[in-house]
Amino acid sequence: MKAIRVHQFGGPEVLTVEEVPTPRPAAGQVLVHMHAAGVNPYDTYMRAGTYAVKPPLPYTPGSDGAGVIEAIGEGVKKVKPGDRVYTAKTITGAYAEFALALEEQVHALAAKVSFAQGAGVWVPYGTAYHALFHSAEARASETVLVHGASGGVGTAAMHIARSIGLTVFGTAGTPKGLELVKREGAHQVFDHIKPGYQEEILKATGGRGVDIVLEMLANVNLSADLKLLALNGRVIIIGNRGEITINPRDLMLRRASARGFTLWAITPSEEADIHAGLIAGLENGTLRPVVGRELPLAEAARAHKEILEPGAAGKIVLIP
Ligand code: NAP
Repeated sequence: MKAIRVHQFGGPEVLTVEEVPTPRPAAGQVLVHMHAAGVNPYDTYMRAGTYAVKPPLPYTPGSDGAGVIEAIGEGVKKVKPGDRVYTAKTITGAYAEFALALEEQVHALAAKVSFAQGAGVWVPYGTAYHALFHSAEARASETVLVHGASGGVGTAAMHIARSIGLTVFGTAGTPKGLELVKREGAHQVFDHIKPGYQEEILKATGGRGVDIVLEMLANVNLSADLKLLALNGRVIIIGNRGEITINPRDLMLRRASARGFTLWAITPSEEADIHAGLIAGLENGTLRPVVGRELPLAEAARAHKEILEPGAAGKIVLIP
């Protein structure tokens, strides 16, 4: 089978397509014929060797994908050959024609959801679900600012927040992104490049502030976010690429909090919640992953460059 392999950490050019043996599922494992693989920002940090998790080399990147069960190992009960699934982590990597996964790493993909959309489920929607329900403990009567709503996690967060009744504000940095954020469910949109947009957000709340901020770029926004919070407000720090100074008084005045976040630290019961919620939402149509660009598997290096550029518009997906 064809797979993307990384033999040394470095720039996007270290992603190369190779022929490797197709793995066989052992007991408790399944082999997925991958029809699409999702590209996430963390894939690029891991490839560069700067991420908290450093896989042993060589490795095939990717946790998110969707496809059809090709074969199952002994004792597997959850799925059978021919079933459509999305992956939430794999054993051998999602950027490939086939991926070996543990039985518990694959989940039913509703027939109405395309494989390309299925490749945009796990990290984006898992993050959004975990951030809203477990970290922020969001309630329907609250207002959430999705700060960076045009990308994978942002669109997912808007879908989930809308489906449970929150008032949703979303930001983007390009006209195309702003249009997408409006289309995907934000009640109000704001341009995070425009000077003074934070005052517009505060004005839109009648000066009260927002209850929750889901923050995609904390090193740029955290200090200003704290000033946008209502009493008992929470900033959930999802994305961060550097350092920033904050004034703790902004938190004290509002009895507010800023919470760090990592999807990798979820407990088994939180993970069970997340998949139950996502599977139901995909099935009932409230969750509709937005695919911005589909690229052939061989263009993984291009995908890694483009995902870090401004102007997000949904997910970038690789097609093996
Ligand atoms: P993505 O699809 O590349 O989207 C990036 C988003 O950030 C876009 O909406 C982009 O908007 C926005 N952005 C750019 N500049 C911004 C600014 N100044 N203020 C606010 N937003 C800004 O990435 P993603 O998959 O949504 O992930 C978002 C971030 O969360 C990444 O840093 C990722 O590594 C992190 N993340 C962390 C976890 C975790 O476990 N902690 C899990 C998932 C993701 P424009 O392009 O329109 O400007």
